[in-house]
Amino acid sequence: MRVKKPVTGTKQCLIWDREHETMPRPKLEKLQLERLQRTVERCYERVPFYREKMDELGVKPEDIVTLKDVSKLPFTTKYDLRENYPFKMFAEPMERVVRLHASSGTTGKPVVAGYTAKDLDTWAELIARVYTSGGVTNADVVHNAYGYGLFTGGMGFHYGAEKVGATIVPVSGGLTKRQVMLWQDFGASVLCSTPSYALVLAEQAAEMGIDTARDLNLRVGFFGAEPWTLEMKKEIEEKLNIEAFDIYGLTELIGPGVSSECPYHDGLHINEDHFLVETIDPDTGEVLPPGTPGEMVLTSLTKEAFPVLRFRTRDRTIINQETCACGRTTARMMRVTGRTDDMLIIRGVNVFPSQIESVILSVPHLEPQYVIVVDRGSTHMDDLEVLVECSEDLYNKGAEAMKEAQEHLSRELHQVLALNARIKVVGPKTLQRSEGKAKRVVDLRELSH
Ligand SMILES: [Zn+2]
Repeated sequence: MRVKKPVTGTKQCLIWDREHETMPRPKLEKLQLERLQRTVERCYERVPFYREKMDELGVKPEDIVTLKDVSKLPFTTKYDLRENYPFKMFAEPMERVVRLHASSGTTGKPVVAGYTAKDLDTWAELIARVYTSGGVTNADVVHNAYGYGLFTGGMGFHYGAEKVGATIVPVSGGLTKRQVMLWQDFGASVLCSTPSYALVLAEQAAEMGIDTARDLNLRVGFFGAEPWTLEMKKEIEEKLNIEAFDIYGLTELIGPGVSSECPYHDGLHINEDHFLVETIDPDTGEVLPPGTPGEMVLTSLTKEAFPVLRFRTRDRTIINQETCACGRTTARMMRVTGRTDDMLIIRGVNVFPSQIESVILSVPHLEPQYVIVVDRGSTHMDDLEVLVECSEDLYNKGAEAMKEAQEHLSRELHQVLALNARIKVVGPKTLQRSEGKAKRVVDLRELSH
């Protein structure tokens, strides 16, 4: 049963908040300055952490006279946020905080984000912009497979869909077979999930004999919350027969909704009326001019409960301030394929897991299901092993064909990334699947000391 008809032609470039998303830059910068000044005042008055830091640096709220003065303010790191666990960064009393979310906190305490009612409304507006930039309207059925809970993905995309007036299916992660059944029965036209889970869903659909082009209504997808490569994006688009949009967000800033792609897919539009962006040299902290690659630093401009000054994202990107073909004037960030925190150093070679993924997907018949294992043996040398699944076709050709793919990947990793890795090509569906963020890297070096 088809409940709603899909909307065709995403290049029509719908814009949710035309006033703010297409605001001329001088006007936008004036608005940013007003909002920055108010944010700094509130941080200084209400958050002891910021008052102490600003006093140390000898900077007062009234010193923020132009946007460039943001560089006078202290940075905030993930470490600072954990040190102030759980509520010490909040600028509002708990009576005004109506919801909490938190990061996964796999290494120590999580980062806790608080929201006032107004913050939640802002967030829904931002996600409404994300959906609208992908052509989603009230005629769409949104299948939301992001996890509901402390993680910001599920509820963020939930309330944004309601804001747009689309029909939301709050399915969350898990029960993969049922998810595919619901795609068919509810006529889902939009998918929201992590990229890795989108592939798991595609695999399940294929197993159930579903032709995604013929049997499903799916048209677009919004993917993020983990680094993914352009090759992976292509795989998702082909396997699900959809247009994939990259989204970006951080629990520390608001969750998803910081930036997202438009139909031109040439960088992610940052919602600059809510977030002030800078690029810095990660080693010296020096501010770099727009267009120079560096670490992205973000300041919240409208958040009430949990304002953040100059948050160091550890994400490396390039900011482009030119007006986009879609009509938006907001700056675009180039897609992020890895965090500086995720960078592996293997025998002195710096490498992002996403770079390894790109090489894997350049080899025919290898699938975007892989695990990277780094260990240090008795020789105290880093040892890299990559386990990767092959296609059903290759598997059926037998051991010799799999060995060939293994050697091909080994050669490519050496030539492209200067890595010497042991490769193990395994059969389809042998590696563990994740219903949320995929665990791609297992680093055993810390344990072997
Ligand atoms: Zn655009």
